[in-house]
Amino acid sequence: MTMHDLGIIGAGPGGLAAAIAAQKHGLNFFIIEKGHGLLQGIVDSYPHGKKVYATVPKGETEPFPIAILSPGADKPPVAEYIQRVEAGVTELGVTVQFDEEFQDVRKGRDGFTVTTNRNQRQARKVLLAFGSNIPMDLGVYGEAKTIARNLDNPKEHIGFPTLVLGGGNAAADVVATLSRAKRDADDPTPVYWGNKMEHFKVNEDVARDLGVEILLGGHIRILQGAIPRIGEVDEEGVDRLIILTQEIHTGGGVVLKQAMSFPMKHVIACIGTQGPAPIFNKLGLQMITCTEGVCRISREGAQLILLTKDFQTSVKGIYAIGGAISPAYIEVQEEGTFKEKKHTNLIYTAIKDAVRAVDHIAGSIKKK
Ligand SMILES: Cc1cc2nc3c(=O)[nH]c(=O)nc-3n(C[C@H](O)[C@H](O)[C@H](O)COP(=O)(O)OP(=O)(O)OC[C@H]3O[C@@H](n4cnc5c(N)ncnc54)[C@H](O)[C@@H]3O)c2cc1C
Repeated sequence: MTMHDLGIIGAGPGGLAAAIAAQKHGLNFFIIEKGHGLLQGIVDSYPHGKKVYATVPKGETEPFPIAILSPGADKPPVAEYIQRVEAGVTELGVTVQFDEEFQDVRKGRDGFTVTTNRNQRQARKVLLAFGSNIPMDLGVYGEAKTIARNLDNPKEHIGFPTLVLGGGNAAADVVATLSRAKRDADDPTPVYWGNKMEHFKVNEDVARDLGVEILLGGHIRILQGAIPRIGEVDEEGVDRLIILTQEIHTGGGVVLKQAMSFPMKHVIACIGTQGPAPIFNKLGLQMITCTEGVCRISREGAQLILLTKDFQTSVKGIYAIGGAISPAYIEVQEEGTFKEKKHTNLIYTAIKDAVRAVDHIAGSIKKK
């Protein structure tokens, strides 16, 4: 079995950036991807036609470290971004092993054995760039398994009121895309946008697109403080989701509750994903559980991976980057103390992490 310098898991922006950086350093590497194509995580999670923003996190001043992976200032639709990346990666001659799913990694005498659904591969260093695609639980009483997590085909919702749940960028994107599709089809049915919090948290680019959509006549109804409660099957056998939209305390312990019920096939829950903590735990990578006083950014109980400033985990030789370590991780400081670090889940961040990690990997391999 060939011993590679580096094994890269996942061909999203982070994994591809790592492969390009490894090629520049002259490393012998492999990159595996569980999906059929490049940027599969993006293909699976972005709504059809969504614009891809080249957002740079606040405080960063440098341009995208690998230009061919940048969406560019023209905010291309997702299909165009993917095409551009495919063309750039092909030109560089980077080969990705598709339909190969990472399952395990074990440390041996000279390096690591990476087990996939199809193969066993060997590498001195391993970089985990598998993103963060484990959907959050809706937390309702009853079943809600048939609810979509992203907008596959806007046409399926034409002619039906549709509920989009979530208060962040992903939900806002879906609301705007769906509203545009309904408007184009002269469909008067509304897009309900439900968020259990009072406030929505979207970035400027997304807010601008949504504002344009509303001004152009998009039929968007906002439901603040809307809480998904029950998943049930009605008398006609239709799976429905009931959301609580208002509670009025009338005195004497009596509460007037207002709710709405939507067929689940017209509900899209963009309520985020959780980090791959179970996978990190299985691989024996050290995690820290947030307790009061330890974390300022993350909620109590969240499990954060421990990383060096070069994104090396507690197992020397295994690195983790990008969406997989968002929205926060614990950085081991030089003096041995720990610091919670905010890590914005963006294409830019994943690429920057990859370049830093691979520089470190190349440095440590050349030293030997
Ligand atoms: C709806 C939505 C809209 C967004 N819009 C923007 C935007 O406009 N601009 C922006 O900068 N960011 C945006 N983001 C965030 C951005 O997409 C992520 O930050 C970025 O994709 C992270 O890159 P990554 O390589 O770490 O992970 P991913 O892109 O998730 O890539 C991980 C890859 O690993 C593969 N993989 C997973 N598990 C395995 C396994 N076991 N074996 C092998 N392969 C595996 C996946 O299939 C995937 O291709 C958006 C996110 C969402 C959800």
